Amino acid sequence: MHYLDNAATTSVNPQVADIVNATLRQHWANPSSLYAPGFEAEKVIESARKTVSDALGCKSSEVYFTASGTESNNLAIWGAALARKNWGRHIVATGYEHPSVYKPLQMLAAELGFAITFIAPDTSGKVSTQALLDAVTAKTVLVCAMHANNEIGALLDVAALAAAIKAKNNRTAVHVDGVQAFLKTPLRLNTTQIDSYAVSGHKLHAPKGVGALYLRQGYNLTPLLTGGEQEGTMRPGTENTAYIAGFACAVAQLHKAMANNIATVNTLRAYLLGGLQKLEGITLHVPPKTIAGIVNISLPGIRSETMLHFLEQEQVYVSAGSACGKGQPSHTLTAMGLPAQQVQCALRISFDTQNSLEDLTALLTGLQKGIATLARAQTRCR
Ligand code: PLP
Repeated sequence: MHYLDNAATTSVNPQVADIVNATLRQHWANPSSLYAPGFEAEKVIESARKTVSDALGCKSSEVYFTASGTESNNLAIWGAALARKNWGRHIVATGYEHPSVYKPLQMLAAELGFAITFIAPDTSGKVSTQALLDAVTAKTVLVCAMHANNEIGALLDVAALAAAIKAKNNRTAVHVDGVQAFLKTPLRLNTTQIDSYAVSGHKLHAPKGVGALYLRQGYNLTPLLTGGEQEGTMRPGTENTAYIAGFACAVAQLHKAMANNIATVNTLRAYLLGGLQKLEGITLHVPPKTIAGIVNISLPGIRSETMLHFLEQEQVYVSAGSACGKGQPSHTLTAMGLPAQQVQCALRISFDTQNSLEDLTALLTGLQKGIATLARAQTRCR
């Protein structure tokens, strides 16, 4: 099969699966227990924390394991807002954040009266750093800016943004959703003024259900869960030792190979863009700065789902938007102000080093066939 939906999820790396399996069997003791097997399980978690912190460019003590990117974003947003609600109730965010960011923001507005300023991307998918900065006031408690957008891959210079925000209001917290960017583009968190950064395992060939949140040392955040002492009380609940170990294994491999991986994915991207440009009637949505592995297009008058299922028959798997949007028109392309027809006819193609030129050739051939067949069918329908 030609799996080109890696922004939705990735296959589990077999070595990661082996580590998960071995950890489940060997280190099932409670990592908080005071006897040797518990201590051994704790060592597995601390070693994983070190691996993830090396890849994030921060201290081990600044990494908190969670169960998903969604949980990391919710913790960062609610936690920052609750810790600051007594001096300000204003938040700034980009207009195309993932639902695990914009929905908590909507809830903060509905439940606690926060005012949220969303800064829309332009039609190329770029969000202006200056516009985000201009929206920050003395009462702005938090700015949320995704590092790489999950539908079009647009990259934001989050380090520069955080520095500019702190220069304007050093009380304003900066949260970055790094789920699509982590290990796809270089960033060393300790060289930035970013306060929190969310990542997720299943975008990196680790299992679903494990993620992490970077919290800058000394950063003030109110935990959402209360309970035991795990994760420095920031995220209580007995740790999922096996998935944490698997996550770290995936991170270590991708971190070591990051430069090569980026080069490989760039080669795939160039081949794909070249092929797409030769297809009639395709509109490319390519922001000025992107991660390499996401390409978004609009088809000539063929609805996303129709083409998606046509390609499925060829064993080519892409998506109509984000997987979380399940059938909804693309949140990102809508925020970019693109015409409804382009939004309804959009496809997201996302790939990584597990993909080959053959996968992309299969896609291009499938698209060409699909455009010819489906466009004819649509003409007959009219
Ligand atoms: N943020 C972005 C940008 C994403 O693409 C996703 C997943 O699609 C998430 C957050 C949520 O991550 P998870 O699926 O681990 O909850």
